[in-house]
Amino acid sequence: LIELRDVNKYFGELHVLQDIDLTVGRGEVVVVIGPSGSGKSTLCRAINRLETIRSGTILLDGRPLPDEGKELARLRADVGMVFQSFNLFAHKTVLQNVMLGQVKVRGTAKAKAEEKARALLDRVGVANQADKYPAQLSGGQQQRVAIARALAMEPKVMLFDEPTSALDPEMINEVLEVMRQLARDGMTMVVVTHEMGFARSAANRVVFMADGRIVEDRSPDEFFTDPHSDRAKDFLSKIL
Ligand code: ATP
Ligand code: MG
Repeated sequence: LIELRDVNKYFGELHVLQDIDLTVGRGEVVVVIGPSGSGKSTLCRAINRLETIRSGTILLDGRPLPDEGKELARLRADVGMVFQSFNLFAHKTVLQNVMLGQVKVRGTAKAKAEEKARALLDRVGVANQADKYPAQLSGGQQQRVAIARALAMEPKVMLFDEPTSALDPEMINEVLEVMRQLARDGMTMVVVTHEMGFARSAANRVVFMADGRIVEDRSPDEFFTDPHSDRAKDFLSKIL
């Protein structure tokens, strides 16, 4: 579903993505881990075309990423993204947040969009918060709304960039549980996270990045029990 071939990206002199080859199949859950500054967020942003790349190709569903215009808007709708900071529209209610993209980008009729928004809010466990504003919600609830908002666009793939790292510990699990459910439902997911429990239980593959390169790309079992590279061993010894 997603294919990166020999992707390179620079920030000025800094070679942030180096010869990245990565394939994510339909229904696969790939967890990306690695030290700070290794390029994990940049990788996500490149897949969503929030960052341009210097060379290489990125294919979504066999097609190259569009550069601009309507095609790009459609791509963004096909690739749901959930960030560390919740990024909800502060002056819109929870319900409006989940309806907006459907109406504006997908052209869905309002009544239909509302019906779907309510169903999604129910699915992520915040149906009773529909008429509140984001600031009135806990971090965990806001993040679940952000997931519902992305799902409302019926994306082909969901990218998560450290979705739980801004949350208080007691809220982390409620968000991870929604993500686990999504994975069980067959959603294709790329998840940058430091939650190793999630990686072990939900990932099909773990991609370990260091210095802009993919150093390991293996099953969680293999990766956690027998990391090959010194970089991965070092990283795991610090976080486990
Ligand atoms: P973290 O775990 O801290 O989120 P990361 O793996 O997500 O790190 P990236 O955010 O992808 O890392 O950054 C990779 C490198 O690119 C870092 O050295 C960072 O300082 C640099 N970088 C990121 N964004 C920019 C930018 N807009 N301009 C210049 N350099 C940038
Ligand atoms: Mg990051």
